[in-house]
Amino acid sequence: MRVARCRWTVLSLLALCAVAFAQEGAEKAAPEKPWRGGWGGMRDPEKVIACARELQFNALIVNGPVDRMNDFIALAKKEGIDVYYWFSPIARGKELEPWRQHMRPEDEQRLLEIRADKDPKKSGYQSGGEPLPGHHDVLRARLLCFHRPEVIEHCKRKIAETMKACPGLAGVALDYFGYQNYRGCHCPVSEKRFEAYRKANPDLPRDKAFEQFSLTTLVDTINEMSDHVRSIRPDAKVAIHVYPTFLPEPLYGNRLNLDYCCQTVAWFFEPYWPDEKVRRYTRIVVNEAKKHYPRQQGIPFVGVYVGRKIADKPPERLARELRLIREAGDTQSLSVCTFGDLVKHEAIRAVFKDALDATDTTAH
Ligand SMILES: [Zn+2]
Repeated sequence: MRVARCRWTVLSLLALCAVAFAQEGAEKAAPEKPWRGGWGGMRDPEKVIACARELQFNALIVNGPVDRMNDFIALAKKEGIDVYYWFSPIARGKELEPWRQHMRPEDEQRLLEIRADKDPKKSGYQSGGEPLPGHHDVLRARLLCFHRPEVIEHCKRKIAETMKACPGLAGVALDYFGYQNYRGCHCPVSEKRFEAYRKANPDLPRDKAFEQFSLTTLVDTINEMSDHVRSIRPDAKVAIHVYPTFLPEPLYGNRLNLDYCCQTVAWFFEPYWPDEKVRRYTRIVVNEAKKHYPRQQGIPFVGVYVGRKIADKPPERLARELRLIREAGDTQSLSVCTFGDLVKHEAIRAVFKDALDATDTTAH
């Protein structure tokens, strides 16, 4: 009896120690390093890199000839800034045409109307973002159908070639992985694979099955690309901008097995998103990022076009969005497109600097 009680005491002490140790461990766990990524061009590299440094962006996402990328990487490295290869599976050129996604006739008709729209703001067209209520949008860019093995091989080859030619890259940033009609592809290859999916899931209604098939294959493709990048170089990082929108589930990003998942919390165009939506999306993007994969950091993405016919976000509006994001998300990470507009416009840079100062004040 005495021995038993003694054993219990020892066990209890051990358990208490374990709890104390775990708490101490939790307290000491280093916070994740903020990731601030700018999607943009390489024109005036010195200016772009100086702007990134000034605004504490530590990642720049670019695309271009490998020689120019290597020069850009060398300059950025001196300032401690990582460079990512911006890769998009867009169906450009005649030779890729047979592999592009197919849309229904009504979507093709809509595409013609959007292209022909002469209104400077294209009548509320959101260009790959969530369409306005009651609007029927499709993406103007033709996308490759990733249900085809040839397309998967093509994407993998492009990524591997670029990583080999630019060994200083920190990683790859994916963009335009999605559907031109924001829902799914109707090419013969996709239709055939969908029928097989239906047979394997006979209890699902057709619409629901199409949504799930489209989402699962999209997520699997992105995760395959992410694995591919790590198979080439295990320390390479993978980022993504979740774009174009996938209408059945716009915030699907936490299903992706990658490092930096940029999901839109404030879009480029008017009408700008309501405060409540910016806050709600920020909370989901940041707080639910690790639901499936612990490697993932959820990065709020903000669209910024300044002085363009289709959009011209005023500094005050951007300041408001950055404040809402700061208040809603427990993160100093951020992603912005187009970074070149920050380089060009002093008033916009000032907004980011003020936001940084505010974050510093909150942090201390
Ligand atoms: Zn297809």
